[in-house]
This record gives sequence, C-alpha cells and structure tokens, in this order.
Amino acid sequence: MIRIVTLSVLPIEVIDHVTRRVHAAYGLGCEIEGEAHLPKGARDKDTNAFDGPKLLAEIDDKTMLYADDKLLYITSEPVSTPPGPMGRGPISGYAQYGQGKAVVTSHGLGAKGALGLESGLAKRAAHQVGHLWDLHHCFDPRCAMHPDWAPGFTQYPEVALCLFCREKSERKIKLGQG
Ligand SMILES: [Zn+2]
Ligand SMILES: [Zn+2]
Repeated sequence: MIRIVTLSVLPIEVIDHVTRRVHAAYGLGCEIEGEAHLPKGARDKDTNAFDGPKLLAEIDDKTMLYADDKLLYITSEPVSTPPGPMGRGPISGYAQYGQGKAVVTSHGLGAKGALGLESGLAKRAAHQVGHLWDLHHCFDPRCAMHPDWAPGFTQYPEVALCLFCREKSERKIKLGQG
C-alpha cells in the first residue's frame, strides 16, 4: 500500500489525480492518509527551501505503517538537497532509496516550460515512489524514472513506466509482499 500524506494545502482533485496515477503506474493500492505538519527545523535559512533528507528524518507523523507500506509526503514548498560539492539546488522530490518514505513538491509546476500542476505532480510522485523500490534513473524519456531534471521528463506529461522499470517494480512489490 502507498499512503499519501499532505504537508500543504493542495486542491483535493489534484491529490486525487496523483493517487489514481500512482496506483495505475504500480498496480498497488494508493490511499490518501491525511495531513501532517512540515518540520520547521528542516527549512534551510539561506534558501528558504526544505532539506529533503532532513524533512523525512524529522517529520512527526502518526501514520501507522505496515511492513511493506510506502509513505509519500506531498508539499507545495520548495525542497532542496543538503549542501554538498554540487551546491544545493531545488529538487522536485527526495526518496529514501529502497526504503519507506519519500517527499514530492508541486513547487515550480505550472511555470513556463514546466509540467502542469496535476500531471507534473503525479509524474514527480510516481518517480519518487519508484526510488522506494530501488528503481534507478532510466534512459527512456517517456518513462517516469527518466531523470526529473532532464528536458525529456517535462516533454511527456503521461505517467508511464517503461517495460524494464515496470517489471523491476513488480518484482520488488512481490518480494515485499512475500
Ligand atoms: Zn530520481
Ligand atoms: Zn524506465
């Protein structure tokens, strides 16, 4: 089961759309779980963005998780990577690779050259959830696992997985439920 927790106020039809698209991409139950508060301590004072890993580590959420559940947080606030040699750029989301929690943001969607709010958030969500099943970045620009910063990602608004990524996710989901 994939459980969605909202950290910002977003239109319910947008969250519904994300839920349906993520469900369709992985063939797994996806439900809106509820709301939680953004951990204020994870906001970077210089960039005003939320540090992705810190946000997931510090979030105080009462959601009951079963062993193979995945938790997807959705916010409209900017999210960034922690400071490092590559600097700290804005990111569309962050996932605990091969583990339970991911966050995705609607920040920047709807702008010129970006995907629309609904389709963009759904695709970003499917991408981060894929990382939770160890899916790596994919060369196919039509696949949701294509790098989210690459031009191809915004070129195809549909939420789809290529055959390779779909089969890998199916294996991982089966293992998790086994
Ligand atoms: Zn990625
Ligand atoms: Zn792929």
